[in-house]
Amino acid sequence: MQNRITKLFNIEVPIIQAGMIWCSGWKLAAAVSNAGGLGIIGAGSMYPEVLRAHIQKCRSNTNRAFAVNVPLLYPNIEEIMDILIEEKVKIVFTSAGNPATWTSLLKSHGITVVHVIANTKFAQKAAAAGVDAIVAEGFEAGGHNGREETTTFCLIPMITSVVNIPVIAAGGIAGGKAMLAAFALGAEAVQVGSAFAVAAESSAHPNFKNSIIAAAEGDTALQMKKLVPVRLLRNPFAEAIATAEAAGADASKLSEMLGRARAKAGMFEGDLETGELEIGQVSAMIKEIKPAAAILQQIWDEYRIEKERLFKS
Ligand code: NDP
Ligand code: NDP
Repeated sequence: MQNRITKLFNIEVPIIQAGMIWCSGWKLAAAVSNAGGLGIIGAGSMYPEVLRAHIQKCRSNTNRAFAVNVPLLYPNIEEIMDILIEEKVKIVFTSAGNPATWTSLLKSHGITVVHVIANTKFAQKAAAAGVDAIVAEGFEAGGHNGREETTTFCLIPMITSVVNIPVIAAGGIAGGKAMLAAFALGAEAVQVGSAFAVAAESSAHPNFKNSIIAAAEGDTALQMKKLVPVRLLRNPFAEAIATAEAAGADASKLSEMLGRARAKAGMFEGDLETGELEIGQVSAMIKEIKPAAAILQQIWDEYRIEKERLFKS
């Protein structure tokens, strides 16, 4: 397939692996890129020199395009931007911040910039900042999320009606049927997180991967809206947050309960009791740990089979 996204990134298949803290190191990114999609290193959980090592390692493990995702609220953001430029990273996905701050610098170094949004206001801001494409991430997605709770089905047509740059759909997509639906709504690629969080090459702890496989319908919820909205898998920590929220906990109480490095404890170190487990609603449909290439191929094959079926009917 050829469209604006495959041309922009120089990839064969319009499937992008989401940048996910503690899950998407160089191993996952290189595996997805080698399989024909776009792999992304998630910088949010990496100290600057760890990120540099992951970029170098990714480059020596794939000749194909890969990207780095940078949450813009990252503490050492200037250092991270210097590393991206020094290491000649070609594609950067920014998220969780103002796209106007860094887009022109990155673009002046020839870097393709994509920004992640969850509403029309930020889509317009990102387009005005000059980004090359947008990831529109719906309410179903894991981790940090939009306050409006707009689902992917509502979000994609809203975004494509206000911007002319290509839109990548994210949130709730782990199979080819959902990918086809996203394309019908106007997306030109999909970004897949949860399905790749359990990939064999994901750096997530096996305990976290197994808890994703075991997740059932209703096991994730959007929590901590008064602080930073985040979709979490149900565990004792998430239940404590839900109880506190029902009792009217404010942002400072939630921040105190969250403390520091809980995502690392849960997702990287495998502490399923007190850790923060960020994953999407679609985890209820993910049933096995497989290599990233097999995950990508399954989505792509199903997309093509379903497209054919729809056109015949
Ligand atoms: P990884 O799964 O990241 O991979 C290990 C590989 O990384 C080895 O092949 C090793 O190469 C290579 N590697 C490690 N450090 C460097 C470096 N400084 N420069 C170049 N290559 C390097 O496992 P590790 O546990 O080794 O992780 C490396 C670092 O990345 C650690 O600090 C780890 O905590 C962090 N990490 C962070 C993640 C995150 O999301 N924040 C995800 C995964 C890892 P060689 O065989 O030559 O030693
Ligand atoms: P916390 O403040 O709770 O903890 C910081 C964590 O990040 C620690 O585990 C720390 O590792 C690690 N870390 C990596 N680089 C740095 C650095 N330069 N300074 C301090 N700590 C660093 O944050 P979270 O774990 O909740 O979030 C970490 C990052 O991930 C943030 O940038 C956040 O925006 C992003 N994020 C993105 C999400 C998404 O959906 N895209 C979801 C959630 C978070 P150590 O423990 O080894 O010190």
